Amino acid sequence: MTDTANRLEIWYRANARDLPWRAPPGAPVPADADWPYRVWLSEIMLQQTTVATVKAYFARFTARWPSVAALAAADDAEVMQAWAGLGYYARARNLLACARALVASHGGRFPSDETMLRALPGIGDYTAAAIAAFAFGHRAIIIDGNVERVITRRAGIDTPLPAARAAIRAELERLTPAAAGDFAQGLMDLAGRICTPRAPRCDNCPIAVGCRAAASGDPTRWPVKPIKKPRPLRHGFAWWIEADGAVLTVTRPPKGLLGGMVALPSGDWSAAPDPAPPLPGDWIDLGAVSHGFTHFELLLRVRALRLAARPPLAGNWLNVDEMASAGLPTLFRKAVSLAMAHESGSEDQ
Ligand code: SF4
Repeated sequence: MTDTANRLEIWYRANARDLPWRAPPGAPVPADADWPYRVWLSEIMLQQTTVATVKAYFARFTARWPSVAALAAADDAEVMQAWAGLGYYARARNLLACARALVASHGGRFPSDETMLRALPGIGDYTAAAIAAFAFGHRAIIIDGNVERVITRRAGIDTPLPAARAAIRAELERLTPAAAGDFAQGLMDLAGRICTPRAPRCDNCPIAVGCRAAASGDPTRWPVKPIKKPRPLRHGFAWWIEADGAVLTVTRPPKGLLGGMVALPSGDWSAAPDPAPPLPGDWIDLGAVSHGFTHFELLLRVRALRLAARPPLAGNWLNVDEMASAGLPTLFRKAVSLAMAHESGSEDQ
């Protein structure tokens, strides 16, 4: 083992956080048959989400669906609803697809081989390596944005991302010991607590010896980022149709953005600058909410129609009071807040 890996592991063993999806430092991988399920579930949840947020979701999911088989048999809408608030719903859809693929082709068990893991829905290089290391104790090279930051700083890699990835991988190949679990967890904890994006604490860092970024006096210069193109702006409309104390909601088509989620009726989000509403009437413009998707920014105008009786439109009518807690994705929660604010504003007048 290199001196750097050794220092990192010593630090990790003294400072490891107690997390329900992690084996204690220095301990072998637990023999529990559902351990790989816990590792996988936590890794999918942790993508783009903080440990503090994930803890509560992880506890709820594992209590309700304690195994791959239980999740595979779950109702899609229930899983989507339980996921609400974690964002990126494609991950929840892949979660179900992966559990079902495991039941159909692997007897409900995760394979330990990275290539076989990568063939499963929603499992990319990072997650496959994490499962191989944390669930099965294999040597694996685990690279995410946090690891990239620590390694580009330590090795002073000046190539911008993503072109720097080959050099980062080569450096990790050199540093990673045979039992990679504690080393990889240590690197991630170091990234979260010491080598943070904006304020790295080089004076407290166990691997500061030989760190090029620390020696430069300006460690936040790494990783070198590519110049970003601005995300295109798209426009859309959502329709708040209220009658008899209830609001019309729909379930979005299973494929595509926010697929399978409960939503307000809305058109597509690209073309018509002012599309026809779902029914004629005295529509009120409530303003717009904006929301960032991975590849575009959406400006969603919300228009409301209040009627004495429910019109014969397809969908589910939910009580106005239930709208805020109905498990709508963030974009539509913003639209609901806008409509509710308008509603209480009109009552106050
Ligand atoms: Fe990051 Fe500073 Fe540690 Fe280098 S010494 S790895 S820049 S915290």
